[in-house]
Amino acid sequence: MEPEDLLKPLFPQQNLFWNGLPLFHVNKAPDSFSGRLYFVMGQGLGDHVNGFRILYEIRARFPQANCLVYADRRWEELVTRMSGVGVRWYPRALDPRSATGTNNPYALAHDEIKREIQENSVQSFLAYDHFPMPDRHARGETTLEATARTIGLNLGDKARPFLPIVDLDSMWAENFLKVQGLEEGKFAVLAPFSWPNKMWPRERFSFLIDTLREKYGLRSVLVAYPEVGPFNNVGAVMAYDLTIGQIGGLLARAGLYVGLDSGPSHMAAALDLPMVVIFIERNTIPFEVRAMTPWALHVVEGFEGNSRDPSLGTVEEAIAYLWSHKKNLPAEIPRCPACLRIAHYVIGAKEGMLDFMCACGLKITGNTFLEESLPSSQTNSSLGESISRNLWDEGIHNTLIRRYSISSLCSLSYFKEAEKDLGTHPYETVKIIIDTRTETLKGFEQSSDLALRSNIEWAQDALVLWMARLGYLPHAVEIRDDRHSVWVFSGAENNKTLKTLRSSRVTIPWAGRFLKLSSAEDYVRWYSFSKWGRPSDLVGIVKSLVSLGYHREACSVAWVSFRSVPSFRSLRWLLKTIYFSLFGQGVLSTGTGA
Ligand SMILES: [Zn+2]
Repeated sequence: MEPEDLLKPLFPQQNLFWNGLPLFHVNKAPDSFSGRLYFVMGQGLGDHVNGFRILYEIRARFPQANCLVYADRRWEELVTRMSGVGVRWYPRALDPRSATGTNNPYALAHDEIKREIQENSVQSFLAYDHFPMPDRHARGETTLEATARTIGLNLGDKARPFLPIVDLDSMWAENFLKVQGLEEGKFAVLAPFSWPNKMWPRERFSFLIDTLREKYGLRSVLVAYPEVGPFNNVGAVMAYDLTIGQIGGLLARAGLYVGLDSGPSHMAAALDLPMVVIFIERNTIPFEVRAMTPWALHVVEGFEGNSRDPSLGTVEEAIAYLWSHKKNLPAEIPRCPACLRIAHYVIGAKEGMLDFMCACGLKITGNTFLEESLPSSQTNSSLGESISRNLWDEGIHNTLIRRYSISSLCSLSYFKEAEKDLGTHPYETVKIIIDTRTETLKGFEQSSDLALRSNIEWAQDALVLWMARLGYLPHAVEIRDDRHSVWVFSGAENNKTLKTLRSSRVTIPWAGRFLKLSSAEDYVRWYSFSKWGRPSDLVGIVKSLVSLGYHREACSVAWVSFRSVPSFRSLRWLLKTIYFSLFGQGVLSTGTGA
């Protein structure tokens, strides 16, 4: 039997229930489906344009469906542009400008929907809401991707927010450009307004305006509310209090966008515009809320250093990178060598080079990508020597076991050799030694006594995902001595893999302590977001599992959560899940059904 692919996301093959509400599933309805579908938008502008993508795709595929949208009146202009849908406005949401309104106003829609579904004679489903899959963090998904997956919708290359722009917006924007003396593509849109905990200092935006003009000849159009106050920089245009459509019209003509974790960034993402998004607040996981586009660099420097706000220098370097590579975007935003996802998180800049990071936690410096273009003859001539030195020869030539030291894998050229070796030889076991002297709670760091030039900094998940891509699954972690631990991976050819996997032991490095798990499979399935995870996120996984009716799995995660942080909250969830798994009905097992 082929081992189950643990990295394959749990993609439901049937309609699920979420807190008792039946969820739609695109593969379970005929194209002629004419029942009722409910779409409950989150309260923010970004939530709306992301939700519009799913609404748009479902409308296109099921034109006879009766779509009912719950939305926020602040975004009425855009909502009413979504053709062929009925709209219900929910109560006024909490707003950063007035600091009044209801928090989570959309929650009030659920009772109404539940009642209508029970009373309605036509088939009715919930098609969009905040019901993402519990393994979304382990998969590094945005909310949009995870929600689409829950209803069986594969967005493919349409995984972008959807922004309905009309001719009127375009005409207005053309005229605005003429009046302000701006040229299409020769200005940047800057959006400096958000909730106070997400704002980047105003004076840094001011410096940025001057840099953009002096270095790149770009004038800045500031899209915000008047509360931000005027910017008196030369050439700056204050475009305060525009309609959402007008902002869309301007974004469609801009050459660059710089903004925060807020609505306008998601609008820009819909338009494939080179963009830099600055993250301030560490309470959210950037990959989950990021503006969904391959054209963005997300500056998350605050997650690495002591300073909460990313520095002006790093933001400027991120802009410089986008601007100098703009002809070949988004291709020239680097990919992670381990998991192959786009490594678009910027964690710093040194000597004009950016430090990129992937959602898997792997860090890589900008010059590494220049090195990649070198012909092979120019790479380190002592490479062969270093390989034999770093492979721990056990005295005999062992064709079944391969050993690597993580510090040697920090060189991209050596990494490539190793990848070729592992990809062409079906080893039974691969062992990777880690120097634990520099190990941190977020995963291990590179060895300090690195002989080779280092350009990759590994993280536990990067290693797991890299090995899995090559057909090796985590099996155990052995403590070798007080300085070294060894990650042991089993090849797919090794028929004991899955069985061993279930009885092996690994740790969650971010669980508040080095919490041992009894299954590597569980680690990969639920907890492999070490770079961003916090112990409190564990209860979030439990809640999501319970909402979807995965009671047995919820119970097992609740036990991990309780061991991680023994609190009243985690205990309550543990008892709840024990009760549910004894007396509740599970909806679906964790198997992918493959
Ligand atoms: Zn990666």
